[in-house]
Amino acid sequence: MTAEIYLVVLMLVLVALFFIVPRLVGNWLKYRGTRVIICPETRRPAAVEVDTRHAEWSSLAGQTDLRLKNCTRWPEKKDCGQECLLQIELAPEECLARNILTRWYDQKKCVYCARPFEDIDWAAHKPALMGPDRKTVEWSEIPPETIPDVLKTHLPVCWSCHIMETFRREHADLVTDRDYDARGKAARV
Ligand SMILES: [Zn+2]
Repeated sequence: MTAEIYLVVLMLVLVALFFIVPRLVGNWLKYRGTRVIICPETRRPAAVEVDTRHAEWSSLAGQTDLRLKNCTRWPEKKDCGQECLLQIELAPEECLARNILTRWYDQKKCVYCARPFEDIDWAAHKPALMGPDRKTVEWSEIPPETIPDVLKTHLPVCWSCHIMETFRREHADLVTDRDYDARGKAARV
């Protein structure tokens, strides 16, 4: 009898490993992350997050059901109809904030050192950007719902130049103008 119980348990584990886990992980990978959509009500960008846990478990029932976990228009619009989910269903990769930024840096060069953005390391060496005020900023300082507008007014800066610019700005007395002029000439033209 004990052997039969072990066999049933083993079969349940195998079913989970081969059918359930891949589906759960697949939906988590597909719908994780911040997305920038156009709010159907305002026709303006808003940043949202999909409730990945709900998407994962609903997929086991046969069809993945999407709902939002967060929206920058919440809590005021918490009870909206979430019609923006259609944009995510139709093109989940297109509206992912990370992908929007990666596409923007593609084929561009750092405004300071002119090096192209290749194989961006989003984990350790995130690229930055320079605003109209010539100050470099990191993406963590930018509200995601403003990304479409920011991309129109800012210039791309590589991670190394952003670190140097930040150091120069915060420790101006330690950096000579000669060093800065040689490296930052392109940025000021
Ligand atoms: Zn650079």
